[in-house]
Parts: sequence; C-alpha cells; structure tokens
Amino acid sequence: MAKEELDCSFCGRKKPETNLLIAGLDAHICDRCIQQAYGIIVEETDGEEGDDLSKDLELSKPKAIKSFLDEYVIGQEFTKKVISVAVYNHYKRLLQPTTEDDIEIQKSNIILVGQTGTGKTLIARTVAKMLNVPLAIVDATVLTEAGYVGEDVETILTKLLQAADYDVEKAQRGIVFIDEIDKIARKGDNPSITRDVSGEGVQQALLKLLEGTIVNVPPKGGRKHPDQKFIEVNTENILFIAGGAFDGIERNIQKRLNMQAVGFSASIKEDNIERDNLLQYIIPKDLKSFGLIPEIIGRLPVMTYMNPLDAKTLRSILTKPKNAIIKQYKKLFEMDNIEFNISDEALDFIVKKAMEYKLGARGLRSLCETILTDAMYELPDSEEKSFTVTKEYAEGKLEKSQIKLKAVS
Ligand code: ADP
Repeated sequence: MAKEELDCSFCGRKKPETNLLIAGLDAHICDRCIQQAYGIIVEETDGEEGDDLSKDLELSKPKAIKSFLDEYVIGQEFTKKVISVAVYNHYKRLLQPTTEDDIEIQKSNIILVGQTGTGKTLIARTVAKMLNVPLAIVDATVLTEAGYVGEDVETILTKLLQAADYDVEKAQRGIVFIDEIDKIARKGDNPSITRDVSGEGVQQALLKLLEGTIVNVPPKGGRKHPDQKFIEVNTENILFIAGGAFDGIERNIQKRLNMQAVGFSASIKEDNIERDNLLQYIIPKDLKSFGLIPEIIGRLPVMTYMNPLDAKTLRSILTKPKNAIIKQYKKLFEMDNIEFNISDEALDFIVKKAMEYKLGARGLRSLCETILTDAMYELPDSEEKSFTVTKEYAEGKLEKSQIKLKAVS
C-alpha cells in the first residue's frame, strides 16, 4: 500500500487529516479514535478498577459505615460497631500489599447470633448496599454434602454469580449471607460415629469456601452435569456473614456462667448478669457446645449477637429507618393520590401485637398487611383523598383475621 493511501481503520480519516496514525499488524488507528476509545474504557470500568478500592476505603471508615447502618438498622448498637470494624478490616485486607512483610491479615468473616427477625439479614443487605457489591442470601438448611440429595455448597457461589450478573470479578468481592447456620450443627458436642449428612458434612464442605479457595462453580446451579462448563470463582475476598438463632444456646451460656461464677476466676459477678439477655455473654466455646465444629468457628472469627427487640425498638422500626414499613405504605397510597396516616395509638397497638407473636420485626410487616389489605384493595377505586388508621380500625381488621394470624404464629 502506498504511504499516502494510509487511513484510520476505525474512522476512515486519511493520514494527513490526523495528528498521529499508529500502525498495528494490519490496521491503523488515529489519535482521535484512541482518545475516544480511552473515554469508553474509563466509562465502562468506572467503579471497578483496582484504584477505586482505595477510594472505597477512604469513604468507608468504621464510623461512616456505622452511620450508614444507623439509617437502616435500629438498635443493635454493639453489633453495628463490630460489623463496621469487620467490614473496614475486610477492605484493608483486600488492599494490603502482598509482598511487604509476612503478616497476612485473616479474613473477617462474621457470625451473627440472634433470634429470628432481629435484623441479621438486614445488616448483611445494608452492608452490601453500602459497598455496592453483590449479595447472595442462602439458607444453610438446603445444603448437603456433595453427592447427596440437596444443594452442594458450590451453589452458594452460583447465587453470588447470579447476583453479580455473572461478572466474576464483582462476585469475587461480594458478600454471602448464610442464614440458619445453626441448623447444620451436629447433634451434641461429640463427633458422631455415623456420618451426619446434613450437619457436620456440610460444615466440612463449607470450610474451604470460608477460608478462600478456587471453586468450580456450575453457572446455573442445581446438580453438577458433565457437559456444564464451570466458572472458576476465587472465594478469598468474599465476605461471609453467617446468621443463626441458635435456639437454646442460652442454656449453654448459663451453664458456663454458673461455672465461672463459682470458680475463683469469676470474671462476671453473679449479680451483674442480665438474665433476660444472656446472648450478650456468648463466646465461641458456646457455639462449639451447640454443635458447630471448631474449624468453622475459627473461620468465622468475628462473632456478635443481636438483642431481642423490645417494644420501643419495634416502634422505631415501624417509622424510623430509611425504608421503614410505614414510609413504604405512605408511598404506596401516595401513588393513588391518597394521603396515608396512622395514629400513634394504632402504632402502639401494632407493636403490642408484634410482641405477643414473638416474631421480632417480622411480625410488624404481616400485621400491617393484615390491617391494610382491605384499604389497599378498596381505596384505589374510590374518591378518597386521605385515609387514617386509628387504633379502633386496626383492632377491627385484626379481630376479623385473628384466626388466620394465629395459624401463622
Ligand atoms: P433475621 O435475619 O434476623 O431473621 P431480618 O433481617 O430478615 O431478620 O428482619 C426481618 C424484618 O424486620 C426485615 O424487614 C427488617 O427490615 C426488619 N428489621 C429487623 N430488625 C430490624 C432492626 N434492628 N432495624 C430495622 N428493621 C429491622
């Protein structure tokens, strides 16, 4: 090809029309196209480049993380603090230069112990939202050891990949929330003689995942299939948060505390123990007594507890968080141009009922649904411009469905 005939293979400009024309193997690119292409790269990789990690870290000092959590999670002050530090350290770990010294920061996987409906999942969700990373929520009860009927532990990562739109890089920085971890405890403190398919076996299978390993993940989940191409996922930088109610663990704590109290090394004085919230005294040993294997406990080094929700907290949960239930209903009615209000007495009544059902904050939602369903069904077709729920209205609606609710609780 004669020299004067050279042109940019992207935009077609002739060489004299460009400032610079760079030759490739069998194509050319001009300075303008390079600039444009660079612009695209910057736009496309925004928020994904390594450098941005340090920006995230700057944004998310523990106190900033805690204030973000405060906007969504009511109460649970101690746990929010612990989580903020754990998340911050997790990021520090991701940023640590690998060559400098031999100190390797351990993963800050977290275990949350607390009754159902106290905000464990909410905390995981909120952290993921703040960090803008994908989140997979999985239920430990459906997991089984490889080879048994149920889901292999790898499917946890399938879920994470799905949450990350199959962007492996993104998934590798994501968060996995494993709910009901207590349900895979082995029965009793002693290793079982017979294989324990749904308990200890699953714990064993989880170990590697928690610690950090490269896993071949079936992209669509389900049982492995010989033809299915696997996606390699490295779990090293995935933050695992496990949650469980550990029903009855208070007995283990109580037993241990009693023993401590009679011993010479009594660290907690008998009179100072808050008997109605023993979870706050939980230590890793109690999880072992409950049936988690020591290796799993070791890989979930950040342990914290959720307080049971008292009436005051439940009351705040109804109205205070950024996406509080009552705010959501307000918005729903607003979409039909109806102003929604609820009296303080009605709110107190809902809280009282939620306490009776002992479903934590979960009860609030189902109570509100029961009370408001009729209105949400009727009002969009009416001329009403406002709707106020009084205590009497709430009582009336609930009475009608009392039988149904009893069945639920
Ligand atoms: P858990 O995982 O502990 O069973 P969830 O996090 O799923 O409980 O909480 C159930 C519902 O109650 C969610 O809708 C959540 O928003 C609400 N909730 C629970 N605890 C709190 C809390 N401390 N602050 C605000 N909302 C809460």
